Amino acid sequence: MDEQTRIVEARKRRRYVFRIRLLPESVVGRLARRFHGVFGLWGILTYVALITTAGIAQAVADGPRQLARFQPADDLAVVLLAYLLALVAHEFGHAAACSRYGARPGGIGFALYLAFPSLYCDVTRAWLLSRWQRVVVDVSGVVFESAAAAVLAILGGAFQQPAFTFASFLVLSNLVWALNPFGRFDMYWALTDAIGVVDLRAESRRVVRGLLRKDRDGCTEQTWRRVLVVGYAICTMGIIGVFIYYSLRVGAPLVAHMPQIVHQVRYDVLQGRFGTALGTVMEPATMLLLLAVMLYRTGTAGIRLTLRQWLRFRARAQVGGTGSDGTPPAAV
Ligand SMILES: [Zn+2]
Repeated sequence: MDEQTRIVEARKRRRYVFRIRLLPESVVGRLARRFHGVFGLWGILTYVALITTAGIAQAVADGPRQLARFQPADDLAVVLLAYLLALVAHEFGHAAACSRYGARPGGIGFALYLAFPSLYCDVTRAWLLSRWQRVVVDVSGVVFESAAAAVLAILGGAFQQPAFTFASFLVLSNLVWALNPFGRFDMYWALTDAIGVVDLRAESRRVVRGLLRKDRDGCTEQTWRRVLVVGYAICTMGIIGVFIYYSLRVGAPLVAHMPQIVHQVRYDVLQGRFGTALGTVMEPATMLLLLAVMLYRTGTAGIRLTLRQWLRFRARAQVGGTGSDGTPPAAV
């Protein structure tokens, strides 16, 4: 696949509902160049030193006790600002790595990714880099963000400021999402690039289909790559199953409580308590949006699969079947 096609494919794979650019390409490019130096031995040593110091600072200051006593409402502005800075650091991580290897990073902005509000950095040109350079671009976001979390943890521990410790905790919980290779997050792309496939999900589906049909022509990959892709496919199916199970468990009582929630919101609005009404509606609305996205994705995948099978069945019937050897018909 040529580079231009890869860029077009990458653009199609984005799942943004909408996005707004906050920092233009020229500013991101200038700032990213300042971080070129961290992609080397000194950068790695500094990173290890930061993480170690953060661990020591938190152990000395008894971070978990600080966290237990902390009321986020007391220092909400500090927490949110620190958290936001760590997210910006994440995007600069991607931009700096991209720029370091000679691909111009795009702008940084705010986006709704599926139902999740998030920051983004346009690194589509990373497709022009080599496979292992792209792996560095993929993981750099997590590395920069965890370095920011380490700085926050050091500040929280050294100056007995639980707001910073709490912010570093928030950043860590955010990183768990990015580390999850089963959503299309950073580690998904890192794994995709490390294995050397264009779309890990499409590839894993193709390999599993090939194995089920014993159609070795569809599996020309080396054995280690096939094992990784099949392992990935099995884990993904397990994760989707668990996700659907918990979503239904959470969603069913939520739908049952909906009349009560609507009544409460209406009451708060009539009393002029708009902030409380917004708070009441936010949590169930986010959950319902997530459920709707999940059902939409599962539903459309099911319809596509059924339609494809039906067309295949019809094509077989028209040519008098493919016999009992299970040879798949021509692509439909
Ligand atoms: Zn990222």
